[in-house]
Amino acid sequence: MRIQTNATDRLREFNIKPSLQRIAVMNYLLENYTHPTADTIFNSLYQYIPTLSKTTVYNTLKLLVKHGAIIEITIDDKNVRYDADIRQHAHFKCKSCSCLYDIPIKKSKLMMIKKTGNLEITESHLYYKGYCEKCNKN
Ligand SMILES: [Zn+2]
Ligand SMILES: [Zn+2]
Repeated sequence: MRIQTNATDRLREFNIKPSLQRIAVMNYLLENYTHPTADTIFNSLYQYIPTLSKTTVYNTLKLLVKHGAIIEITIDDKNVRYDADIRQHAHFKCKSCSCLYDIPIKKSKLMMIKKTGNLEITESHLYYKGYCEKCNKN
């Protein structure tokens, strides 16, 4: 496992105390922009950190989301997916193979409404679903 210094930097930037587990989870997300689930992250890290538990991974992900260091994607009703790309962007999910792609989108398009009545909107999620190139061919 290659630890990138920016994993620690990202944690510090969002006021999260960098523990070994937190660095490992953050690092995994910075190296894998595949929108992994908590289970995928756990299974990949477990071989390097045998003391790691699934609960720790879940709690770490929750903490990272709460502080804004990563984004939680709920496009998939069965599995929450995680993303270290915290810039505004939309997501596409293939209905056949469940792969998840980023769709670049202007922030102004994603945040069309910033205030409505007494509500102040701070985030917006845009999800598209369909069939990826691979599945479309079959
Ligand atoms: Zn597909
Ligand atoms: Zn993404």
